[in-house]
Amino acid sequence: MKISDFKKKQLRDGFKNVSELRQDLVSGDWMVVATGRAKRPHMFAKTGKKKFDQSIKDCPFEDPQKTGHEEPLLIYYEDSKRRKVKGIKKLVRDWSIQVIKNRFPALGPGDCSEKYKEGPYTLMDGSGFHEIIITRDHKKHLALMSLDKVEEVVHVFQERYLTLMEHRCVNYIFIFHNHGIEAGATIFHPHSQLIALPILPADVRRDLSGAKEYHEKHRKCVHCQMTEWEKEERRCIFQNEHFVVFSPFVPRVNFEIRIYPRKHQSHFEKMSEVERKYFAEALWQALFRLYKGLKDPAYNFFIHTAPCDGKNYDYYHWHAEILPKTNIWAGIELGTGVEVIMVKPEEVAKFLRNQKIG
Ligand SMILES: [Zn+2]
Ligand SMILES: [Zn+2]
Repeated sequence: MKISDFKKKQLRDGFKNVSELRQDLVSGDWMVVATGRAKRPHMFAKTGKKKFDQSIKDCPFEDPQKTGHEEPLLIYYEDSKRRKVKGIKKLVRDWSIQVIKNRFPALGPGDCSEKYKEGPYTLMDGSGFHEIIITRDHKKHLALMSLDKVEEVVHVFQERYLTLMEHRCVNYIFIFHNHGIEAGATIFHPHSQLIALPILPADVRRDLSGAKEYHEKHRKCVHCQMTEWEKEERRCIFQNEHFVVFSPFVPRVNFEIRIYPRKHQSHFEKMSEVERKYFAEALWQALFRLYKGLKDPAYNFFIHTAPCDGKNYDYYHWHAEILPKTNIWAGIELGTGVEVIMVKPEEVAKFLRNQKIG
């Protein structure tokens, strides 16, 4: 097998987390093979129920630098939230949020990689960035945070996005949050993640092409149309001046929630300071209602936004999706991508609207 220069350099530098991007011949979808995440085939064998270590004592994110993480890439401080200093050790103590490199990255590190061939297949080195955004409190996850804190988290998302999009070969930045073991979180301490990729992920590609097709056919943004309709509908859960939160007409999973800016906006990172406050409120409202209603379910939350590859995506409308884990994906879901919806979105919205806030 061919070893690219990038990989050789990574190995020479003693970097073990060499990952690869492989393209599916049929769908054209790109997939990440991150061997550095250190799993041998036998490690996938069932070893009983997975445990979630919740104790502060063993938490790797209580004091990330003490547990071997590098200096933060960005810090917000507890006392003055806009004061950030990079690389000054003694100031790390008072952190409120810090962004660190993932020690077990799915990608990276590196700027650019070339496509190459292996027989009929196309692959690339998995270069990119994988960062973790940690909030200080061990137990206060997003639904339990103050609105200010949620806004800070969103601000950090935006700041890291703006920094990473400057890299020449970063074409897509994916921001996500896993809450709960069933949603794939491996560390209890609340944290979000960000992955900067040289390719467009399959779901994003589908989302973009659907929006583009609709736009070409109807000369309208599909998401604007949907948001305009849903804000008056039974499926609306919450709305404020700038955002609408609703249970989609066609949910992919039970209790799915979407958050859309009312104004047509393709790029998440272009959100203004005022809009950011309203987005934080919309996100918190959605997560708190879910927390209350379903008694702290596991969920995945992510942002779908236009790629940062310099092309025109005016037809796209950024949004956030919250996908609670209420059942295990089995044959039907994995083979068809369809989760059998057991509760109507209209009922979901009513149930979540009726949750007492505060
Ligand atoms: Zn912790
Ligand atoms: Zn729109």
